[in-house]
Amino acid sequence: MRITDITVYSYIAEYNGGTYSMSNGRTCTGQPSIVVRIRTDSDIEGWAENAPLGSDYLPSSFTGELAALKELGPQILGLDPRCPGAISAKLDRAMMSGMSAKSVIDIACWDILGKATGLPTHILLGGRLFDAPPAFSVIGFGEIPVAVQKALAEHAKGVVAMQVKVGDDPLVDARRARAIREALPESVNIFADANASWNLSQALIFARALGQDVTIPFEQPCRSLSDCAQVARLTGLPIILDECIVTMADLVTAHAAGITGVNIKLSRVGGITKARILRDTAVALEMNVNIDDTWGCALTTTQNLQLAASTRPDRLGAVDCFAEWTHPLIAEVPRMQVNGRLTPSSVPGNGYRLINVEMLGEPLFYISK
Ligand SMILES: [Mg+2]
Repeated sequence: MRITDITVYSYIAEYNGGTYSMSNGRTCTGQPSIVVRIRTDSDIEGWAENAPLGSDYLPSSFTGELAALKELGPQILGLDPRCPGAISAKLDRAMMSGMSAKSVIDIACWDILGKATGLPTHILLGGRLFDAPPAFSVIGFGEIPVAVQKALAEHAKGVVAMQVKVGDDPLVDARRARAIREALPESVNIFADANASWNLSQALIFARALGQDVTIPFEQPCRSLSDCAQVARLTGLPIILDECIVTMADLVTAHAAGITGVNIKLSRVGGITKARILRDTAVALEMNVNIDDTWGCALTTTQNLQLAASTRPDRLGAVDCFAEWTHPLIAEVPRMQVNGRLTPSSVPGNGYRLINVEMLGEPLFYISK
């Protein structure tokens, strides 16, 4: 089987909650999503999706990833898409950046491999270890009573894992995080994400203001791994790293520095091939793992669910659920159930049914020989 052509589409994945907010005033109402179709000389084609979270979140941007796809795409024409490891290695030799572009190519190749073998991707990734992983919700910035009400409403829908956004005023954010923690049962998995915006001093102020009697795992408090590790040492709070974990060296260094958890975003690390190795290593090191991505919608949800469902349940915290967070849905994919969980479909490949190509409109560009 050989890759014959690549088509790149885009649409705006609009946020269902109005305005999405992160620290440092980073807000959006949606993001342009990149959707890739890889066709082959057989009747099998693969699809994948992800969207950079603006240009101020990671060293990645929508226009930059499109440029990377234009450069990388021609180099994989004629290759066997059932060999995502070989394709990933070829992409890495060709370009150092373009992680999101590499990711959609890699994920579409896994989709083809699954369809070619008649197996869902999570079986190819080691098997279905987790029947129905919990999905998390994001509680953004806002007045404390409003944020608490939002968290209670999510819990009433069945959500059992929530990420609370922090990273602006450490004292105000500590009060909001504490109020949400106290309003919800202990069984709800709550973690606070500063999205790398605080320096060490601000992160320590937040942790102290949270109070000794409240424990909330703390995601990417500072930009650097070393500052985040200091937060762990000085506060005793479990630290989850997200933005600063890209390579295996990052992960191993983090573990050695006392970091206990990692948020693995497929488009940050270069796709399923890379994410799987990081996931397996993190689990082998007895770290906690969340599976996530920067932005997206239907396909992003079902792609990430493949990795989540093949993760050891005692080490997986939660998986994102873009299909509940954004619209429109370009494919039918698993949705969050009343128990706050996602059940992967047994459809071969990445677990979606028909793609609504009309919804995608005209392609941005097309790559063929
Ligand atoms: Mg994060």
